[in-house]
Amino acid sequence: MNVQGLQKLTLLDYPEKVACTVFTSGCNFRCPFCHNAPLVIGTEEVETYSEEYIFSFLKKRQRILDGVCVSGGEPLLQNDIERFLGKVKELGFAVKIDTNGSFPQTLKKLVRSGLVDYVAMDIKNSPKQYCRTAGIDESWAYMEQIQESVAFLLEHPVVYEFRTTVIQGYHTREAFKEIGQWIQGAERYFLQSFFDSGELIGEGINGCEKAEMQVFAEIVRPYVQKVELRGV
Ligand code: SF4
Repeated sequence: MNVQGLQKLTLLDYPEKVACTVFTSGCNFRCPFCHNAPLVIGTEEVETYSEEYIFSFLKKRQRILDGVCVSGGEPLLQNDIERFLGKVKELGFAVKIDTNGSFPQTLKKLVRSGLVDYVAMDIKNSPKQYCRTAGIDESWAYMEQIQESVAFLLEHPVVYEFRTTVIQGYHTREAFKEIGQWIQGAERYFLQSFFDSGELIGEGINGCEKAEMQVFAEIVRPYVQKVELRGV
C-alpha cells in the first residue's frame, strides 16, 4: 500500500464513528476540483508512511478509534488493498472506503469478503457530463465500470452512500434529475460543498451557493431515501 497521508482523528469522515483516515496515493481520474492534488499528480513530493508506522499507530488506537477510513487518491488502485484491509480488520476496526467507483470487481471482492463496512462512492455528475467532470478522456471505458459499481451498491450489499461535490459550471438542475433517476432507490445521497484546499488539480473552480444546492437536493429527493447537504 502506498500511503501518503494519515489524519489521526476524524469525527466527520466516517458517519457515526470516531475514526482515522489513511490516504493512498495515485488516482486514475483528474477531477478539476480535487482538493488532494499532491496525492494525485505530485505523489513523489509527498511524504510516504510505512506500513509498519501505520499499524503501530493503529495498535495504539485500538481502544480509542472505532474505524479506519481509507481514502485517496483512489484506494482501489492499490494492488494489495485486500491484504491491507485484512490487517486493519484483524485489529477490530470498522472499515470505510472512499472510491470513485471505477474498479467494480475489486469493490465487489472487498465487500463480499467482509473487509469493508461502509462504502462512500462518488457520483461525479450525470452520465453525459461524467468524463468532463472526472477529467478523463471520453474514449476511456470508465462509464461501464462506474455503472457496474452503482448497480452493485444499489443491491444494498453493504452500508453505503453516494455523494457529489457540487461545482459551478459543471452541475445543473437537469444533471441532478438524471443523477436521481440513475441512483433511484439508493439509501443515502449527499451533495457536498466544494472545499478549496489551495491544492486543486484545475483552475477557476468554484462551489455553488447553499440555496442552489438545496434546489438540487430537492430535485434528487423523490428518487433517494435520504438526501442531505454536507459541509454547507
Ligand atoms: S477527486 Fe477525483 S482526482 Fe481526486 S482523488 Fe477523487 S477521483 Fe481522484
